Amino acid sequence: MPISHNFDGGNIDVIEDSNAQNIQLKIRADANSSFFQWFYFRVHGLNQVPCSISIQNAGEVTYPKGFENYDVVYSYDRKNWMRHPTNFLDGILNIKFKPSQDAVYFAYFAPYSMERHSDLIARTLSASVASLEVLGKTVDGRDLDMIKFSDGKNSKRKRNCWLIARQHPGETMAEWWMEGALEWLSAQKISESISLLKLCDLFVIPNMNPDGSYRGHLRTNAAGRNLNREWENPSAESAPEVFFVKEAMAKIGVDFFLDVHGDESLPHNFIAGTEGLINWSSKKQRQLDFFKNTLKKIDKDFQTEIGYPTKERGSANLKMSAAQIASRYNCLAMTLEMPFKDTLENPNQSLGWSPSRCKTLAISSLRVLDQYVKSAII
Ligand SMILES: [Zn+2]
Repeated sequence: MPISHNFDGGNIDVIEDSNAQNIQLKIRADANSSFFQWFYFRVHGLNQVPCSISIQNAGEVTYPKGFENYDVVYSYDRKNWMRHPTNFLDGILNIKFKPSQDAVYFAYFAPYSMERHSDLIARTLSASVASLEVLGKTVDGRDLDMIKFSDGKNSKRKRNCWLIARQHPGETMAEWWMEGALEWLSAQKISESISLLKLCDLFVIPNMNPDGSYRGHLRTNAAGRNLNREWENPSAESAPEVFFVKEAMAKIGVDFFLDVHGDESLPHNFIAGTEGLINWSSKKQRQLDFFKNTLKKIDKDFQTEIGYPTKERGSANLKMSAAQIASRYNCLAMTLEMPFKDTLENPNQSLGWSPSRCKTLAISSLRVLDQYVKSAII
C-alpha cells in the first residue's frame, strides 16, 4: 500500500496501487457537497522505482481547466515544494515520477496545514502589537482565530481594516499570503508597518475555514457550505465561520476589506472589485483603481489586464463577502485572486506560483494599504 492520505489536509482515494507503473487514484469530494479538486497524498516504499500515477477523475473536478498547463507540486521534506511536469489528457491527470527517497508528497498546491496555522498564530502573538480574539467555534469545534494588530493608541481618525483568507480551504496560497502579512505586521522594525498601525487597526482572519482545511476540502466547510456564498444571511449552525465574523464587524466597523483567494484556471494575480453594486460610483471606482494600479506599480507579479469580467451595475451577488461588505459599510472591498499554476507575466519554471511569492505579494499589498489609508481618496 504505497499511498497514504490520512493526515492534516490530506485528500485522495485509491482505486488501484498494486503496480507502481499503474497507480490509479481519485480525488474525494468535500463532505456534504459535490466540490472537489484539492489533492494531497504521500507515496512511500518506491525509492528509485519509476512510477506512473494517474488521477482518474481529474476531468470531472469543479474547475477542469485548472489542470490544463498545470504542473503538480511535490516535496520530500514538506518544506520545499517543487513543480514536476504533469500531463492532462482525456480527463486523466498523469504524473510520471521516480522517487529518490522512501517517501514523497504530492499536492495540488503547497499545503498549509492546521499545525502550521497554529504555529503562525502562536509566533505572531509574541509581537506586542498583536492580540488574539477567538470569534467562535467552527462546525467541527475548532477555534476561529482573529488577530488584531494595533499600536494601542486611540484615535478617532483610525480606520478599521479587515483582511480575511481561505474561505475556500483548498486555496492554500491564501494562507501563505497571510503568513507574509502577519510576519510583516509583527516585525515592528519596518517603517511602513509602523506607519500603517498609526493610521489603522487591522483585524486579520488568516483562515476562515479551519475544518475544510483539515479535512482536505476544496471549497466548503464541514457542513458542505461554500462560505463565500453565505454572507447575506449566515446560519450560526451551518456557516458559523461567517456568522461570527459578520457579528464582529458589526461591533467594530469596516473601512477597508480584502478577501484573499486562489483561482484554479487563470495564470495571473488579479483583484475583483464590486462594480455590480447598485450604488457604484466614480469615487468607488477611483478607490479601486488606486489600489490596483499602485499594487501593479510596486509588484511585478501583479497585473490589471486580466481577471473576472466586470459585473453590470445592479448584478452584485450580496451572498459574496466583498459585495456584502462594500454594500453594508460603503467602503472599498475587494477579492484578491492568486494562481494555482503560475503568472504568465513573470513565470518561474521550477516553482511556479509559490509560497514565497505569495508572501511577497502580501507585503506589497500592505504597502499599498498604507498608501491608501494615507491618501485623500479613502
Ligand atoms: Zn476562492
